[in-house]
Amino acid sequence: MRCVVTMTVMIENGERSWEQPIDTGEVPQNGSTFDAIVVGGGPGGSSAAGYLAKAGSKVLLIEKAVWPRDKICGDAVGGKSLSHVKELGVKADLEATPHFRVTGIVFSSPKGNSVRVPLPEEDVARLEAGYSLPRAQFDSLLFNRCQQLVRDAGGSVLQGGDVQEVLFDDGNGGEDPGEGSGDARHARGVVVRVGGRDGEERRFYARELVGAGGYRCPVARSVVESSYGETMMDRDHYCGGYREYWRNVKGCEENVGDIEIHFVDTVIPGYFWLFPVSENVVNVGIGMVMGLLDKQKKKLRALQADVIANHPMFKDRFADAEMIRGSSRGWQLPFGSPRKKSKMQPRRSSMNGIRLVGDAASLVDPFSGEGVGNALVTGEMAARHIVENLPFKEYQKEVWAVLGPELTNSYRMQKLSRRSWLLNWFVGKAERKPALQEMMTEMIASKEAQENLHSPWFMMKTLLF
Ligand SMILES: Cc1cc2nc3c(=O)[nH]c(=O)nc-3n(C[C@H](O)[C@H](O)[C@H](O)COP(=O)(O)OP(=O)(O)OC[C@H]3O[C@@H](n4cnc5c(N)ncnc54)[C@H](O)[C@@H]3O)c2cc1C
Repeated sequence: MRCVVTMTVMIENGERSWEQPIDTGEVPQNGSTFDAIVVGGGPGGSSAAGYLAKAGSKVLLIEKAVWPRDKICGDAVGGKSLSHVKELGVKADLEATPHFRVTGIVFSSPKGNSVRVPLPEEDVARLEAGYSLPRAQFDSLLFNRCQQLVRDAGGSVLQGGDVQEVLFDDGNGGEDPGEGSGDARHARGVVVRVGGRDGEERRFYARELVGAGGYRCPVARSVVESSYGETMMDRDHYCGGYREYWRNVKGCEENVGDIEIHFVDTVIPGYFWLFPVSENVVNVGIGMVMGLLDKQKKKLRALQADVIANHPMFKDRFADAEMIRGSSRGWQLPFGSPRKKSKMQPRRSSMNGIRLVGDAASLVDPFSGEGVGNALVTGEMAARHIVENLPFKEYQKEVWAVLGPELTNSYRMQKLSRRSWLLNWFVGKAERKPALQEMMTEMIASKEAQENLHSPWFMMKTLLF
């Protein structure tokens, strides 16, 4: 059986390769065995599969969708992503396609003050500032490159493969000790439905699985809920996100410039964003923590329509703009904010034979909403742990050691940004104080500078004097 037969059209032909199907070769035989199986072909899964293949592993990469496919996102690809994009060999391809080069971030307060945080050219060169471009394009380029790496290393790639179930045993080839048996279980493979709803089921085997299926990842469910009886979705740590693409928004005509984050009074405690993605198209969206959304009984789509039509800062900018039909869609962002009652932070991300990456491990930045970078980072981490045959508990530890400090910091900032008066005060101050603008640039571009946020003395000095 063959998944997609059309050959990928190369970028050099002037074709938009990311709008074409991707040829991933033959679907492997039922019962085939691999060194590792990666479930999900977004940034996290592509990264894990790509790094595993580069290390010589025989991988099966399974993706539910069939390319070309859309992904609901704000489309900002930050500096953290770029080193992996480069390492996996996609950076040049990406830069050869239309994209928006981010040179700064504009923040505005509910009162209407605004501050611009510049991200200079050197930050891009140092891979510390990034781009924005549609995820349909970014994901296709990344998946295409990684699926090639997988196949070159002797592995297989399956599109249109919907993973239904994770298979377990007792670690020695014996019976699965059953749900809730936690550490006594060991993953041994997956059951996949191939070829749509009425398609056939196939079983594939590997002693190592990577769960990269996003916020509803079936592998994550089998770890968090089924094996350990823990909560997968916590509405205080999940965010609702809604996105539309618009053309001809005033101030967003160029392929280089600022992305905009607006703390609009009607949207607090969430924010409204304008992220240009090149070619005069802008990703316009809105996000709010689910628990807060529930309490306020707000609907994101209606909120966004109201801001665009009526808000004094935006109604003129949208006066001649048109929404691209079919682009209005919502999805969820599983935040990496620390959970109060959990021993595992932000929640369990590994067990015998399984490592979860990206959204499947709930690792989206709780302030900025960025999750692509952490998906790529953990994809590399999971691959390295598998190749080095490290105990599964080490993975959970490294994820939190590397990402915990910034996720915790961002959570603090998210909570502060729920207060309109504080945003008004902070942005008003930053608008007038170059030292504060410089600090914000450093905070966004440099990981080291984020350490300063932990120092109350540094913060007080910068804010007050
Ligand atoms: C509205 C919104 C705005 C956002 N804005 C930004 C932003 O500007 N910048 C940023 O960095 N991040 C942003 N994010 C977050 C970002 O989209 C995610 O963090 C990122 O996509 C995570 O990558 P991933 O590979 O872990 O998961 P995903 O990108 O969700 O990929 C998961 C893949 O798994 C596949 N899959 C699912 N189920 C199965 C199954 N059963 N079998 C096989 N495959 C399966 C899916 O088809 C998908 O391709 C935003 C998210 C939303 C919702």
